[in-house]
Amino acid sequence: MAQQHLELLIGGEWVAPAEGGTREIVNPATGEVIAVVAEGSSADVDRAVEAATEAFKTWRKTTPRERSQLLAEYADRVEARKEELIQQEALNGGKPLFGARWEIEDFVIDGLKYFAGAARNLDGVASADYQEGRTSVLRREPLGVVAGIVPWNYPAEIAAWKIGPVLAAGNTLVLKPSEGTPLSALILAEIATEVFPPGVINLVLGDGKVGAAMSEHPGIAAISVTGSERTGVAVAEKAAKNLKHVDLELGGNAPVVVFPDANLDLLVETLRMGTFYNAGQDCTAATRLIVHSSVYDDFIAAAKTMSESVVYGDPLADGNSDVEMGPLASEVQRERVEGFVSRAVAGGAQVITGGSKADGPGYFFQPTIITNVDQHDEIVQEEVFGPLMTVQRFETEEEAIALGNDVRQGLSASVWTKDLGIATRVSGALSFGTVWVNEHLPLVSELPHSGHKMSGYGSSMSKYNLEQYTNTKHVMIRHDI
Ligand code: NAD
Repeated sequence: MAQQHLELLIGGEWVAPAEGGTREIVNPATGEVIAVVAEGSSADVDRAVEAATEAFKTWRKTTPRERSQLLAEYADRVEARKEELIQQEALNGGKPLFGARWEIEDFVIDGLKYFAGAARNLDGVASADYQEGRTSVLRREPLGVVAGIVPWNYPAEIAAWKIGPVLAAGNTLVLKPSEGTPLSALILAEIATEVFPPGVINLVLGDGKVGAAMSEHPGIAAISVTGSERTGVAVAEKAAKNLKHVDLELGGNAPVVVFPDANLDLLVETLRMGTFYNAGQDCTAATRLIVHSSVYDDFIAAAKTMSESVVYGDPLADGNSDVEMGPLASEVQRERVEGFVSRAVAGGAQVITGGSKADGPGYFFQPTIITNVDQHDEIVQEEVFGPLMTVQRFETEEEAIALGNDVRQGLSASVWTKDLGIATRVSGALSFGTVWVNEHLPLVSELPHSGHKMSGYGSSMSKYNLEQYTNTKHVMIRHDI
């Protein structure tokens, strides 16, 4: 029996969508309908913004301590329901159970706890007398109503990355999950009603039309989007009309630069997660291997063995608790990945392993390695968002840096070497928001996750994200009167 969630959360009440829409939600591991949910429209965005605006009048006056206490209580209540959240993420997102647990524990709960603490450290600065007889005070003030738009690849994690900092800084939120994966956000919203005053968090479900309505809504002061490059550009264009603050966390296309002295065993084991976690549907996924020619053959052999050992299947089927990789999110996504592979092969690329969809129900695709690609090929230049790596060779450090940087995206990269000089030079020269050395994938709540170039601007996580949701105000007080 499919779950039913036919209401949106607006002003602390669960209400039917204004136009009465519904949408079926599918388990990507089986293709079965698992839920029917409300589908909102721009009229619901209007209602939610109105409720969030009303709530902002009092929420903005709460002290950092009060906000911190409420966020900490919220994090505790989310933690108390974490098993349910893990199940929903596995069911709706096709996530292996270990991965769903990792996301809920390390990013949702820890992220909320981090921002509960950070709420008390968002100081203004008082400093006496930059001019004689006048004291200057620097205030950090909330922006107002913030819209948070979430993608389907990390539904709960990225929802929490919006909730924590937006509320910690004293703003109210209108949250829109992805239309395909709203189930965990519904739980997060339900828990919010137990903790926060009505209207502080509002949940509107729906597709890109709802997101577009948020982008141009004059009552929204800031919009934070995690999603594709196309969506980011569309939102920024619309948001420019009333000069909303915009925060864009967009697609990546990470290079992995491998020098001759790299620890290949460690590298290849790291790529098991780095490339194939979440079936490659990860903005930081290790997708473009750029390998020194002296270790190229060894790397290909080891990576092929590893790829062929990745256990994939329905994470929730009996006996599948050790599954490492689930399905792609939808048939459309799988067709997209197939299209990239078949066009690359038609252009002369070689499939070392994988390259096809897997048999059976669900949207599975084999772990795939592709060689004989050119830097300007589509499969190198675009974010494939599937369980796939391309492998290219290089001879010199300059060439490796050039190949690494020669894409539009700039989210994350990694460098593999034991040489401190190479590691320092190359990590400095790569134009990406995160560069790992001898590592690929981990993020921590205390440090920013941000894009360069077409991967966007602004940061998720960390105090930098918190500061983004504030305006800085200088108050100068003349006191010699
Ligand atoms: P998407 O852009 O299709 O959708 C993201 C969200 O935007 C959804 O909620 C969608 O309904 C909404 N949306 C779609 N069109 C819109 C429009 N015109 N205006 C406003 N909102 C609109 O992205 P996706 O396919 O859900 O997610 C995958 C993308 O997200 C990938 O490119 C991935 O790299 C990126 N991503 C980035 C990060 C990061 O931190 N940089 C993290 C996760 C995912």
